[in-house]
Amino acid sequence: MAEYDYDLFVIGAGSGGVRAARLAALSGKRVAVAEEDRVGGTCVIRGCVPKKFMVYASEFSAMFKEAEGYGWSKIDSQFDWKTFLAAKDVEIGRLSGIYASNLAKAGADLVHAKARLVDAHTIELVGKKRTVTADIILIATGGRVSIPADLEGIEYAISSNEAFHLEELPKRVMVVGGGYIAVEFAGIFNGLGVDTTLVYRGPNILRGFDEDVRSHVSDEMEKRGIRLMVGTQHERIEKTATGLVNHMDNGVDCEADVVMFATGRMPYVEGLGLDNAGVLLTDKGAVAVDEFSRTNVPNIYAVGDVTDRINLTPVAIREAVAFVQTVFGGRPTSFDHEMVATAVFCQPPVGCVGMTETEARHAYKKVDIYLTRFRPMKEVFYGGQDRMLMKLVVDGETDVILGCHIVGPEAPEIIQMAAVAIKMGVTKAQWDSTCALHPTMAEELVTMREKHVPMELSIA
Ligand code: NDP
Repeated sequence: MAEYDYDLFVIGAGSGGVRAARLAALSGKRVAVAEEDRVGGTCVIRGCVPKKFMVYASEFSAMFKEAEGYGWSKIDSQFDWKTFLAAKDVEIGRLSGIYASNLAKAGADLVHAKARLVDAHTIELVGKKRTVTADIILIATGGRVSIPADLEGIEYAISSNEAFHLEELPKRVMVVGGGYIAVEFAGIFNGLGVDTTLVYRGPNILRGFDEDVRSHVSDEMEKRGIRLMVGTQHERIEKTATGLVNHMDNGVDCEADVVMFATGRMPYVEGLGLDNAGVLLTDKGAVAVDEFSRTNVPNIYAVGDVTDRINLTPVAIREAVAFVQTVFGGRPTSFDHEMVATAVFCQPPVGCVGMTETEARHAYKKVDIYLTRFRPMKEVFYGGQDRMLMKLVVDGETDVILGCHIVGPEAPEIIQMAAVAIKMGVTKAQWDSTCALHPTMAEELVTMREKHVPMELSIA
């Protein structure tokens, strides 16, 4: 066997890359990781983690109102964006430092450089005038923001990357897109007191989610003061003396101080030299891999968003663990991408696992739906109008639960535990045999006995 500088060279120190590098190094392999940006990847530096801090910050405005309903004197509190940003940056710096020190403790070398493949075993460290060789290479470069570059005036718009570092909190924001990032940031800005408009080109936000979830979230977002403009797209953005005028194709002109495009992410493969090693891409531009995360080049693997399977941090981590077990542990292991729970941290938040009702009706002969909408007791007490949605999608023939969808307070926390049982193949009868825990919102999940008949079926 050829002698290489490293047993494993990882490109990208995000969630997937760091986990693979650490595990391989801890098992005694010689490992290096290249990262051109800060260690931690999208999740830690410009994604899940800072976003969640922003969600927390933005939730206080509603809590202050609730507090008055519970007898607290009027709370007259001001939000200081700069104070928040500074504290957020300190915490992100600390977490990034932990990622780097964990790599060092495991014995992996960290190289601050962009890595480019020269061939299947040779990596150029761009700007370092150095190449290294490795037996196995793992591509874990994640994704990059994708915005419509040819739109007139797009240079005035920002993406979520910049939203984490705005100098000032704007007075008026327009968020473009109807996916995870758009609805999450619309909730953040709205909660922080910014006049917020969400523009989405389709008929309703959160395409791909259960229809009841989509309608419930859009109703609740509007109730909280977010202006939803659906079925329209930008024609151009114009900068004027007073702000950014968004000319929409429905004839509406809408002015904002900040326009944020959240129109998806693309696998980050630019400049990696994949052609030099003969690594093939999918037709959507992701690194093509098999169930063991192996590319068409036998010693090159890829995990995480760059493979565009399920673009979530914990999935990248599990793919990385499976990769290490397969390649260095002598146990071919593939991560099961079925029944992965997901959460959208919009306000109110969403938690889902498994099939939507539409998917189930396509795949199964008989589908039973259990659905409840209610005002949580915390809301009822002070006259709050927020409503919670819980929905179970069940195979009517076997009684197995195919999907669970929740919108409302703590939905992401609840769905994590529901996912355990659903992943294990729980039936509705077994689910219902679980005694309710009172008084909680989650108890409603195990007390839904009546089958729900969708409006269109009941009319038919
Ligand atoms: P999504 O793919 O979720 O949504 C992109 C949205 O932008 C869609 O609504 C899409 O519309 C719309 N869109 C795309 N192109 C255009 C265009 N040219 N003009 C107008 N609208 C457009 O991407 P996000 O950017 O929201 O998030 C990226 C990924 O990051 C997610 O898929 C998710 O995997 C991950 N993520 C996960 C989070 C979590 O776990 N909580 C949080 C944030 C991100 P259409 O529906 O019509 O295609």
